[in-house]
Amino acid sequence: MSRTRVLRPDEKSLALAAAILRRGGLVAFPTETVYGLGARAYDAAAARRVYKAKGRPSDNPLIVHVADEAMLADVVRRITPLARKLIDAFWPGPLTLILEKSARVPGAVTAGGRTVAVRCPGHPAARALIRALGEPVAAPSANLSGRPSPTTAAHVLRDLRGRVPLILDGGPCRKGLESAIVDARGSRPVVLRHGTLTGESIARAAGAPLRSAGGTAPASPGTAHRHYAPSCRVILIPPARVRDGGFVLRGAGLIHRAPWAGRRPAFARRVTGGAGAYAAALFAALRDAEAAGVRTVYVETVPDRGVGRAVMDRLRRAARR
Ligand code: AMP
Ligand code: MG
Repeated sequence: MSRTRVLRPDEKSLALAAAILRRGGLVAFPTETVYGLGARAYDAAAARRVYKAKGRPSDNPLIVHVADEAMLADVVRRITPLARKLIDAFWPGPLTLILEKSARVPGAVTAGGRTVAVRCPGHPAARALIRALGEPVAAPSANLSGRPSPTTAAHVLRDLRGRVPLILDGGPCRKGLESAIVDARGSRPVVLRHGTLTGESIARAAGAPLRSAGGTAPASPGTAHRHYAPSCRVILIPPARVRDGGFVLRGAGLIHRAPWAGRRPAFARRVTGGAGAYAAALFAALRDAEAAGVRTVYVETVPDRGVGRAVMDRLRRAARR
């Protein structure tokens, strides 16, 4: 494949996207979390193309995206009472549920497992695409494996040019971090990956405290892999050191919230607002630091609670060497 088209989602481009998916091809599309690289979920060969295009390890399963509850019923064996509560509270939205898969979902999508990750995306263009196909769409984030997730169509193009025929450009992603993943098979929710939807709000909607992901619960396979890393080195620094301002090395970059009083770094991105705003801007800032050519980027940390918990999870992985 060579050419990659970038089109705004409208009736015509959505019909084209659905036609590509229907014949087993790939389409990148916007969601409220990050851009996804989609394939027909009921087509094992199409799912395998997703792994190949991303260079994704075959033990890291995909998330199945549905447009409504009728589609969900075909994807899972049973909707548990816990799943029902979480769906009522948060769908469409940035919450992925782990449930037992139905016979229709091929092992290529679930990395051979008996469970499936499923969510109904909040971005209207994502749901319009799934509806145009008339079937669920399996999609991981539309980046090359290991890189920061894409939050704009330009990010997708940077990683996947020539590897995907069509990118639907729905503008920058509102949330900017991947969905929270919750195992909803039992009576208590188990958070396998933190997202912008906080553990507190998930527990509240479930009417049950979270069960810890340790012990007997299987972790989310993807969390074992190196992730979210730009080509420059990422070093985490607390807000006090940003305010202090005395240290940033020449030629380094800085992504921060606190005011910086030191010498102008080679690349700087200040994000004002709360942890949610930081989450929305983070992956783009990492990619921009990389594009600016810095070898090291210092990134200010946030308190490890609420949305900050997901931000710190991604930051620690990005900084892992
Ligand atoms: P991505 O959308 O790129 O973040 O990738 C999908 C994420 O969903 C990966 O981190 C997977 O580990 C996770 N995932 C997919 N299916 C399952 C499953 N059956 N159980 C646990 N986690 C899953
Ligand atoms: Mg990913």
